[in-house]
Amino acid sequence: MSLNIMLLGLPGVGKGTQAAKIVEEYNLPHISTGDMFRAAMANETELGLKAKSFMDAGNLVPDEVTNGIVAERLAEEDTKVGFILDGFPRNLDQAKALDEMLAKDGRSLDGVLYFTADTDVLVDRMMARGRADDTPEVIKNRLDVNGKLTEPIAKFYAQKGILNKIDGARELDVVFADVKTLLDNLKNA
Ligand code: AMP
Repeated sequence: MSLNIMLLGLPGVGKGTQAAKIVEEYNLPHISTGDMFRAAMANETELGLKAKSFMDAGNLVPDEVTNGIVAERLAEEDTKVGFILDGFPRNLDQAKALDEMLAKDGRSLDGVLYFTADTDVLVDRMMARGRADDTPEVIKNRLDVNGKLTEPIAKFYAQKGILNKIDGARELDVVFADVKTLLDNLKNA
């Protein structure tokens, strides 16, 4: 029995906090492509050097590189009990590549948790967290850009019947109670 899940949501929606709580409660490996790239950069590995120019410019690292590191990570033994994908897939080609890499081992995603909140809530949270040069307009624009990328992915998984929307505007323990109910249902399915 495994639990293969993916977390989707815009910056400020509380995805990171929920990911940490899921890891703690369910003891699943947390596979964050952003964290993997940052670690590779810090260690100045070949992967880190490849990723650096893209990350510094705020662009996506090319799919072939990203899909490669995810495939390697998913080949590791600890993912047999399940995993939490975070920050991947970021586009439809990555989503399709993920399906293929999982299908090769007879696996598939059990559920996608899509954390949502109104733009106003996200802007407020990001301002509170914020960097000095972030204005509400800049943040709003970043959210718009990200939202345009996220919607097709949400649709892709909705069509597969595995998208679960979670209202991320609520207090974090309330959100996590919903997450738990959902994951327990998936686990027992
Ligand atoms: P994150 O911490 O998820 O916001 O990721 C930080 C940066 O890592 C992104 O801005 C991208 O440059 C890179 N990155 C993370 N995940 C991906 C992905 N799935 N595809 C391409 N680039 C990614």
